[in-house]
Amino acid sequence: MSLLPVAFEDRMKLTLGNEWNAFTQALQTTAPTSIRINPFKNHVAAGEQVPWSTFGVYLSERPKFTLDPVFHAGAYYVQEASSMFLEQAFRQATDLTKKLRVLDVSAAPGGKSTHILSLLNNESLLVANEVIRSRATILAENIQKWGCSNAIVTNNDPEDFTRLGGFFDVVVVDAPCSGEGLFRKDPEAMKEWSPENVDLCGKRQRRILADVWPALKQDGILIYSTCTYNRFENEETLQWLREQQDAESIELKTETGWGIDHVVENGIHGYHFYPHKVKGEGFFLSVIRKKDEAQEPNLKARKGLNTPSKKIEEELKTWTTLNDPKFFTWNETAFAISGSIYKETAFLLDHLKFVQAGTALATIKHDKLIPEHAAALAIHLNRDNFQQLEVPEDDALKYLRKEAMLAQADKKGYTLITNRGIPLGWVNALDSRMNNLYPKEWRIRMAG
Ligand code: SAM
Repeated sequence: MSLLPVAFEDRMKLTLGNEWNAFTQALQTTAPTSIRINPFKNHVAAGEQVPWSTFGVYLSERPKFTLDPVFHAGAYYVQEASSMFLEQAFRQATDLTKKLRVLDVSAAPGGKSTHILSLLNNESLLVANEVIRSRATILAENIQKWGCSNAIVTNNDPEDFTRLGGFFDVVVVDAPCSGEGLFRKDPEAMKEWSPENVDLCGKRQRRILADVWPALKQDGILIYSTCTYNRFENEETLQWLREQQDAESIELKTETGWGIDHVVENGIHGYHFYPHKVKGEGFFLSVIRKKDEAQEPNLKARKGLNTPSKKIEEELKTWTTLNDPKFFTWNETAFAISGSIYKETAFLLDHLKFVQAGTALATIKHDKLIPEHAAALAIHLNRDNFQQLEVPEDDALKYLRKEAMLAQADKKGYTLITNRGIPLGWVNALDSRMNNLYPKEWRIRMAG
């Protein structure tokens, strides 16, 4: 590892005192590899469990994830372990049995969002937002792979949420930050670090919090996190918020063996993760409850969602196992969402820039349905409705590279390709060959 920036080193020595040497030694070691299992996709992985997450597993070595077919099917998400502490904020500060409306305002590439979807019940709604368009596309891809239909992906600036006054029960701000906690894993983060950048990030974080705060209900929960250590971007940002707003910091229970530093400063409970004390990267998280009054918006949408014809709707119903499914069309694509979030979806469509909403099931062409890739990945796809072809790993990789496969389906028609029982995507089986419908832009390019 290259030399640490001097100003960073000076500050961290003061913060860590006699732990400084242990901290720098930890930075010389290889970052642990961890994944978070998708609880809806029937995948198992052997390894030590991440103590603060039901779904987190440490792997003893880092495999070539690209060459594991089920990785592309959303069977798990590769995520460093400290950030999985978000789960404790949800479990301890919210009621997961209730219908919750959650906003993840800076969500790309989707680590926190896919984790939140694993925790929410079917009635709940996640709005996963990302301001940078290209990153919003990656976010949408990862949400599709996770397979839940109760997520909406948007591409808005945080200030666009201000006008949704009192809509959300939970707002997650996993803020863009100076990335001090990533120096071991990502040396680029160190090159970009400077005291000026810390200052810039802190100001941006304050702006984001001020923008999204009005969108939170009274008694709603704000979960704030960064992957940086300095107080200006962490405790001081939240103190700044508390000076402007009526807000209360929430304490989370942690176990001593977890190695997390719980710091209480001016009434703010902050949870700090350092690589010499936890098996993970640098991270900070804090939970705030809104005490200010906030009026819930009237959910009346100006225009409703476009709906498909009755005939198409009847056919779409056979494609999904969703409880109370509702369908809407957008251009030529038919989407499925659960009836429990239909009103919210129509309301949000009026106010936000959508990238995707629910699950894209099919394109409607001349009254025929052509399956969308997202449908193959959806956990509520009615698989009994389609021919399925289980293929071994070699053929699965051929499929994911969009090469000709060895396997051939028995019957003609749209066929679900599976590996280890997990759907990877569609082919259209013809007489003696199969048209590979895997999205071109997602295809594996890695040799091996
Ligand atoms: N939550 C993500 C996850 O778990 O995968 C990681 C989010 S990353 C720490 C911060 C995100 O904030 C980035 O995707 C970045 O594009 C976005 N961002 C950058 N500037 C922003 C701004 N001014 N307002 C909101 N988000 C911003």
